[in-house]
Amino acid sequence: MTDIDTLIANTIREDVRAGHSYKVPDASGYIKLDAMENPYELPDPLRTELATRLADAVLNRYPVASYATLKQKIRDNLGVPAGYDVILGNGSDEIISILCTACARQSPDDKSGRAVVLAPTPAFVMFQRSAQFAGMDYVGVPLQADFSLDLPAMLAAIAEHKPALVFLAYPNNPTGNLFASEDVIAIIEALGDTGIAVVDEAYQPFARTSFMERLPQYPNMVVMRTLSKLGLAGIRLGYLAAAPALLDQFDKVRPPYNINVLTQVAAEFALDHLDVLDAQAASLNDARSELAAAMAALPGVTVYPSSANFITVRVPDAERTCATLFAEKVLIKNLSKMHGLLANCIRVTVSTPEENSIFLNALKASL
Ligand SMILES: *Cc1c(COP(=O)(O)O)cnc(C)c1O
Repeated sequence: MTDIDTLIANTIREDVRAGHSYKVPDASGYIKLDAMENPYELPDPLRTELATRLADAVLNRYPVASYATLKQKIRDNLGVPAGYDVILGNGSDEIISILCTACARQSPDDKSGRAVVLAPTPAFVMFQRSAQFAGMDYVGVPLQADFSLDLPAMLAAIAEHKPALVFLAYPNNPTGNLFASEDVIAIIEALGDTGIAVVDEAYQPFARTSFMERLPQYPNMVVMRTLSKLGLAGIRLGYLAAAPALLDQFDKVRPPYNINVLTQVAAEFALDHLDVLDAQAASLNDARSELAAAMAALPGVTVYPSSANFITVRVPDAERTCATLFAEKVLIKNLSKMHGLLANCIRVTVSTPEENSIFLNALKASL
C-alpha cells in the first residue's frame, strides 16, 4: 500500500514541500493591470496574415533545433552587436533558470559550499525562486529609499559573497526605475572574472536605453530580454545575448526544442512587423506620462519615476486602494508585503486611455 503523504515526504525536497506555487489570480471579468501586459492586440490584417503562417507551421515535426532563422532575426532587428549571439528561452523565466542551473556549482569558496545569486531588492521574484530551485544561495541587497542602487552595499556584498550571478533588472521591477548606468558598470567591473552580471532588460521597449551595445566592453556581462512586455506575453519567448563562448555553456543545460514551432513562427512574424509593436510601446510611453502626472496631482499619492510600462506609487492605504479597485473590477498589484521599502506601494500597468481612466477614477475614490 502506498500512502501518498508518506510518498511525498520520502521523495519531494523539504524546501519545495514548504513552499507554494507562483500565484496568478483569475482575471476573467477584470481590467487586468497587474501583469505588465500590452493591452493592444495586433491589427486585424496582421492577425490574418499570422493565421496563414501558423497554418503552414509543421506541427508533426520537432522544431529545427538550431532556431537559426529566429536567432538571425533577433540579432538583425534587436541590436545584438556583431560577433555576439543569442540563446532562446520559453520566456526569460526559463533563461533565468538556465543561468542558475549552469552556475550552481558546489564551491569551497562559498561559506555554505553553494554558489551565490545576488540581486538588489526588491527585485523580480524569479531571481530568488530560480536560485533556490537550482540549490544556490540568494543574497538580496536593499535598494535605497528612492529605489536607487546602494552601490557601496552592493560592492561590499560582492566582495563578501563572491556571487556567481548578479541580476540587475534595467529598469527594475517592481520599482520601475533605471539604475544609474555608472553604478551598473561599477558592479560589472567589480565582478571581473569571478561573476556574471545579468542585465535583465525585460522593459527595454519602454526604457529606450540598453546595455546591449556595451557587450564587447564587458565579457562578464550578459543581456536578457523578452518579447512579453512588448506585446507577446502569450507566446513565451525570451532571449539572452552574450559572447558565444559563454552561450555555449548555457546552451548545454537548455532543454532541447524548448521553443515550440508556434512560438517560433509567431515570433519571426512579429519581428518582421516590429514597427507595429514599437508604435504601441511609444503610445504606452505617452500614456505613462499622462497617468503619472494625473496620479501625482492626487493628495497623498507619491509617484515614483518609471521607465517601464508600469508605475509604482505610494498611497496612504494600499490595502484600501486595492480593495476599492478590486470592487471596481480593476486588478493591480499590492507591493506592500513584498519588501519593507514598499510599504503602501501599489504597481499599475499602463494601459489604454479608457482603462487608465477607469483605474484613475477608482484610485481617486479609494483615497
Ligand atoms: C516580466 C519580467 C520577466 C519575465 O519575462 P518572461 O519573458 O515573460 O518570462 C523577466 N524579468 C523581469 C524584470 C520582468 O519584469
